[in-house]
Amino acid sequence: MISARGYAAQNAKSPLAPFQFERREPGARDVQIEILFCGVCHSDLHQARNEWGGSLYPMVPGHEIVGRVVRVGAEVQKFKAGDLAGVGCMVDSCRTCGSCKEGLEQYCEAGSTLTYNAKERDGQTLTQGGYSDAIVVDEAFVLKIPANLDLAGAAPLLCAGITTYSPLRHWKVKPGQRIGVVGLGGLGHMGVKLARAMGAQVVVFSHTDRKKQDALRLGAHEVVVSSNPDEMAAQAGRFDFILDTVSAQHDINAYLNLLRRDGTVVLVGAPEKPLPVNAFSLLAGRKGLFGSGIGGIQETQEMLDFCAQHGIVSDIELIPIQQINEAYERLLKGDVKYRFVIDMKSLR
Ligand code: NAP
Ligand code: ZN
Ligand code: ZN
Repeated sequence: MISARGYAAQNAKSPLAPFQFERREPGARDVQIEILFCGVCHSDLHQARNEWGGSLYPMVPGHEIVGRVVRVGAEVQKFKAGDLAGVGCMVDSCRTCGSCKEGLEQYCEAGSTLTYNAKERDGQTLTQGGYSDAIVVDEAFVLKIPANLDLAGAAPLLCAGITTYSPLRHWKVKPGQRIGVVGLGGLGHMGVKLARAMGAQVVVFSHTDRKKQDALRLGAHEVVVSSNPDEMAAQAGRFDFILDTVSAQHDINAYLNLLRRDGTVVLVGAPEKPLPVNAFSLLAGRKGLFGSGIGGIQETQEMLDFCAQHGIVSDIELIPIQQINEAYERLLKGDVKYRFVIDMKSLR
């Protein structure tokens, strides 16, 4: 076994604290990665604090992982020691169902194996995430990190990047379309950069006026303060597509009202409690409300290559792992520009 160090939550109420644990020795198709950087996703906080229910402890969160390959199994073909590598939200899936065969492992019909807060396919071993110094993953779930991307800034692409890229592609956002991004956090700011690179007219909806200048700098054409009824009314009926990344309770009907006929709101944010929907918000104008979860492995690689081509990485604040609990509190206050990334040097 490989001895690993990290930070873990022991239960829903305990702060994250140093934790020693074991990873498996790399098997024939496994890649062992020395983790250099790991992004801090709001999903880490939701799960560490059991806001979605069913959390498994001890839990080492983290699914925006980049690092360097230190060792590979005998049958590994894509990687060799010294390569840069990334791991996102999944480390395995059944690989035989229809979704897996289509490259949609995130929708694996037998359930994909999440990077942490899950059990390996043996149904017993807990998976542990990227707030740690090492990880061992089957090469089929390891991504290649393009060399021209800043490594720390690339980490958040593994979740925030793919989670926003996938719906923009699936709903075929294209040049000239006017699209909305709700919530300028880790996901939202990536949504803005990616949609802009795809040629869309991007309107950011932020619940305060504090992020206006940043939103424009990040690539938005317009910013709407969603708590201002006049600003919202001026947007009614003007959108084909709105990506909602909000992590907390909010009125989803307010955004359905901004759609044109046949327009679509896609939820990627995952608030703790249900969001009530008025029937009339949907049926007046034949509008659609969809959800989207992360992205498949092939599409994640496509997104990384797209980012390399367009020079896109996340805007980050680099923190030592010792500041993770403080970072969670700041995340809850929206006080992050625009993703915390843990420098794993701080663990060594
Ligand atoms: P984040 O950085 O904390 O950003 C969330 C944003 O939501 C905030 O920046 C804020 O934007 C807005 N917001 C927060 N509280 C609000 C409130 N009370 N009212 C209105 N707006 C509020 O979080 P993140 O890491 O981007 O994650 C966002 C959500 O996506 C989380 O729920 C996360 O679990 C989920 N997620 C889902 C997937 C998936 O596969 N679907 C993947 C990753 C994450 P403004 O200040 O601009 O309003
Ligand atoms: Zn995430
Ligand atoms: Zn499957």
